[in-house]
Amino acid sequence: MKEFQMFCIAIDGPAAAGKGTISKAVARALDVAHLDTGLLYRAVGVKTLGGCPALEAAQGLTSEDLERTDLRGPEAAQAASKVAVLPEVRAALVDFQRAFARRAGGAVLDGRDIGTVICPNAEVKLFVTASAEVRAQRRFLELSAKGEADSLAAVLADVKARDERDMNRAEAPMRPADDAVIIDTSELSIEEAIAASLREIEARR
Ligand code: C5P
Repeated sequence: MKEFQMFCIAIDGPAAAGKGTISKAVARALDVAHLDTGLLYRAVGVKTLGGCPALEAAQGLTSEDLERTDLRGPEAAQAASKVAVLPEVRAALVDFQRAFARRAGGAVLDGRDIGTVICPNAEVKLFVTASAEVRAQRRFLELSAKGEADSLAAVLADVKARDERDMNRAEAPMRPADDAVIIDTSELSIEEAIAASLREIEARR
């Protein structure tokens, strides 16, 4: 799509707010590439669980590492947020993300620091959020459907622990960029959240 050449859309926000689903839908609707940057941190985190030093894991990340089937679970999520506090790990992942963001044809990147650090000049920045309780309930239902659910209380504690670590780290803490549009999905269906996001993007093209 010509008008989207070099067009970067940054979508940040906490776990289970809906940013992954929104990002995929937006990328599909606009026919641009999508990078889930959380996967990079998850892949590094999982390698550290296997004994690899974090920096080595980040510097040596391969496309096979990103295709591992064990990246989506809660263990990988917690491991990701632990390696994500390390400045040298974040630095090792910057160039790949920036190159992706500036690919011809445009790109959607979702994560925690896309609008603030990776693409401060992104043409559109969204910060997708929802209350911790709503996010935990969604994650709990997802996990239950896969037969992997712990208790709702345990999922809520997990969500809160990750928020805490992501918001309070010194390097690239999760926060909305000053020029980000906040999309609170607490009271929205996923279809409504996607429609609201697309409206904001259209308004900024
Ligand atoms: O988005 P997802 O839940 O897969 O991210 C896993 C973890 O990776 C987050 O909790 C966060 O600690 C880290 N992350 C980050 N910066 C990003 C994407 C993810 O620090 N851009």
